[in-house]
Amino acid sequence: MNTASQAEHRNLIGGEWTAGIDIAENRNPANTDEVVGLYARGSKAQAAEAIAAARHSFPGWAASGPQARHDLLKTVSDRILERRKELGELLAREEGKTIAESIGEVTRAGQIFDFFAGECLRQTGDILDSVRPGVEVFIQREPVGVIGIITPWNFPIAIPAWKVAPALAYGNCVVLKPADLVPGSAWALAEIIKDAGAPAGVFNLVMGRGSEVGDELVNNPGIDAISFTGSVQTGARIGAACMQHGKKVQLEMGGKNPLVVLDDADLGTAVECAVNGAFYSTGQRCTASSRLIVEMGIHGRFVDALGERTKSLVVGDPLDSETQIGPVVDQRQLDSNLEYVQVGKDEGAELVCGGDRLERNRPGYFMQPALFAGTSNTMRINREEIFGPVATVIEVGDYDEALSVANDTEFGLSAGICTTDLGRATHFRRNAQAGMVMVNLPTAGVDYHVPFGGRKGSSYGPREQGSYAREFFTTVKTTYVKG
Ligand code: NAD
Repeated sequence: MNTASQAEHRNLIGGEWTAGIDIAENRNPANTDEVVGLYARGSKAQAAEAIAAARHSFPGWAASGPQARHDLLKTVSDRILERRKELGELLAREEGKTIAESIGEVTRAGQIFDFFAGECLRQTGDILDSVRPGVEVFIQREPVGVIGIITPWNFPIAIPAWKVAPALAYGNCVVLKPADLVPGSAWALAEIIKDAGAPAGVFNLVMGRGSEVGDELVNNPGIDAISFTGSVQTGARIGAACMQHGKKVQLEMGGKNPLVVLDDADLGTAVECAVNGAFYSTGQRCTASSRLIVEMGIHGRFVDALGERTKSLVVGDPLDSETQIGPVVDQRQLDSNLEYVQVGKDEGAELVCGGDRLERNRPGYFMQPALFAGTSNTMRINREEIFGPVATVIEVGDYDEALSVANDTEFGLSAGICTTDLGRATHFRRNAQAGMVMVNLPTAGVDYHVPFGGRKGSSYGPREQGSYAREFFTTVKTTYVKG
C-alpha cells in the first residue's frame, strides 16, 4: 500500500495540530498489508510543550464553571455517538476487536462523556458547624491541576474517555498519551474535543513511545497527577516515580480473574459466562476470566460443553459480522500467547482445544482460542497474566476450596461465580478478594456509572468511573470561617 499519499495525523498541543519527530504506521492486525493511518510520534520536548500549554490554560478552565464544562462534554458525547459506526470501524481496524464490540466500545465512550457532563452540574460539598462556637466549616472539592493520562492498547477509546471525561469535568487540564499501537481512536477523540470548542491547551494529545512521551509526563514537575492503565511492570515503575515526585497517582494494571462454577450452576449460563469472559475481545481484557475454577460434580460436563463451544467460535476479520473472535493485537502478543500455550503443555496441563496460529486469506495475527483442563493453581499459566484467548480449568472438591483457589493470586480485579445457591453467591460476594464481583455473569463487562477497579496487585489509588472518579480528579479543601 502506498502510505505516502496518506496525511499524517498530528499531535494536539496548545490547540494546534503539531508534527512529531517521527511518523508511525498504524497497521491492521487482521491484515498487516493495510495501513490504517499515519500518526505523529512526539518527543520529550513536545510532551513538555503540551504540559506547559496545559498549565497555562489551567486557571481559566478551573474557573470556567459547571455550565461551560457540561456543554463541552455533552457536545463531545453527541459527536462520538453520531460517529459511532465510523469510529467503531476505525477501532476494529486498528485494534482488531469485532465490529460489534468496537461500536459498543465507541458507544460506551459517548455514554461516559454524557455521564460526566451531568456530573459537572452535580458537584456538591459540605457545610458544618465547627466544634468552636461561631465558626463554620466548608468542605469543597477543587481540581487537582494538570493530569497526565497514559492508556493501553486494548480499549483504544473507552479507557481514554473514562479518564479524560472526569478530568475535564472536575476542572483539570489534560495531556493524553495513548498506546503507540492504537493512536487512531485517541486521535479521533482529540479531534472531537477540539472541534467541540475546548479552549486551547485544556486538552492536549501527544502520541508516541512510553519511554519518551510517557516518561516525560511522569517526571515533568508541571504534571500534578498521573492516571495510568497498563501492565503491572510499567505501572510499578510509574507509581514509584510519581511517589518520588509527590504526584498523585492512580494505577489500573493486570488481572488473573477467577470464574467459579459450582455443581448447582446452570450449565448453559456457566458455559456462556466462560466463553464471553475468557475469549471475547480475543481475551485481551484485564477483566478476562482466565482461571475457571470448577467443582468436581459438574466438571466433566462443563469441560465437554465449553470445549465444543470454544471450537465453534468463528475467528476472522473483525469487520465481518459473522466473526466472533478477532486477531491478536500484534506479533509480540501472539508470540507471547503461543509461548504460554507451550508452557501449559510443558507443565502437564491437558490442551482440550485450540492454541494454534490460524492462517486466513490475509496476513494477520489469528489464533484459535485455547482451553486447558487438568491444571493446578501453582502452574505458571494460572499465576501469570497471559492477556490472550487462553483459559484454564482448575477442578476443585467443594465451594470452600473454590473460594480459596479464587483468592490465591497476586491480583484482585474481578471475580465471578456461577451458582443457583443464594447462600453461596452471598458468601462469595462478601469474601472474594476482588474489586468487582459478578454472580451468574462474565467477569468482564462493566457499567460506566459505578466504580471500576481492583485490589492487591491489580490497582493502586482511588477507583475510576461513576461519581467515585472525583476522588482522584479532585482535591478537598476545608475552610474555617469566623463571622
Ligand atoms: P503497557 O504497560 O505496555 O503500556 C501502557 C501504556 O504505558 C502505553 O501507553 C505505553 O506507551 C506506556 N508506557 C510504557 N512504558 C512507559 C514508561 N516507561 N513511562 C511512561 N509510560 C510508559 O501495557 P499495554 O501492553 O498497552 O496494555 C496491556 C496491559 O494493560 C495488560 O497488563 C492489562 O491487564 C492492562 N490493562 C488493565 C486494565 C485495568 O483497568 N486494570 C484495563 C486494560 C488493560
